[in-house]
Amino acid sequence: RRTDEPVLAVRELKQVFGGLTALESVSFELRRGEVLGLMGPNGAGKSTLLNAVSGVTRATAGSIEFYGERIEQLESSAVATRGVARTFQTVRLFWDMTVLENLLVGGHTRLAGFVPKFLSPFPFVRRGERRTVEEAEAVLAFTDTWDCRDRRASSLDAYQQRRVEIARALMTRPRMLLLDEPAAGLNESETRDLARLIASIRAAGVDVILIEHDMDLLMTASDRIVVLDHGVIIADGPPDEIRRNPAVLEAYLGS
Ligand code: ADP
Ligand code: MG
Repeated sequence: RRTDEPVLAVRELKQVFGGLTALESVSFELRRGEVLGLMGPNGAGKSTLLNAVSGVTRATAGSIEFYGERIEQLESSAVATRGVARTFQTVRLFWDMTVLENLLVGGHTRLAGFVPKFLSPFPFVRRGERRTVEEAEAVLAFTDTWDCRDRRASSLDAYQQRRVEIARALMTRPRMLLLDEPAAGLNESETRDLARLIASIRAAGVDVILIEHDMDLLMTASDRIVVLDHGVIIADGPPDEIRRNPAVLEAYLGS
């Protein structure tokens, strides 16, 4: 298998809702070891794109390849089993459960054969086994949510909720993590901590697509940025290039 093979290759993806074209022929790749930032004004189609990639919705046309395998027709559970995990723009947790319970539920979707580095102290977790409490505790430590372990999810503050949602996503042992505005509602220092968490997730061997409104976070955390506007990619390049791209500036000023 080629090592330069993209993690994710989206080609000519189209998503139509009734009379509205939310995505129009969107093509881009996520490469190995990369954090890809996804930005664009409200309604640009960012969440729609993550929904299509994660199998939450079925794309109208086009293809999505994950490690060379076509996934655009798969159910979200099948996409998750192949190693795609995500968080949502509005946090989704099992609010009546504790944080630990949330993680154990998250661990029910698993990927055999690939173990991110932060789980490597637990090589005894074999294919087909349920996620263990020990494994959940490793993820709690990794995401700095250990103190929340036995708290009910509904009692957490916004930042704890965001991190727990990421922790639950990591319990599936993803190869790729999709984050939809994870810094929404966070203050500056929380946002900086989140950037560090994203960096350590990438360092653990998980590739990341990050949707973010906070421009500083996006520019700092991303190796490359794709800009969507009205369902069309208007720019794709390194952060310093995106920052002074006239089409990007215009899309934001005009919105
Ligand atoms: P973003 O995340 O970039 O703010 P979205 O992907 O949420 O934008 O939305 C893109 C466009 O698609 C918007 O016009 C939105 O109203 C529309 N849209 C998204 N999901 C649906 C849906 N399930 N049904 C109808 N329209 C939708
Ligand atoms: Mg969105």
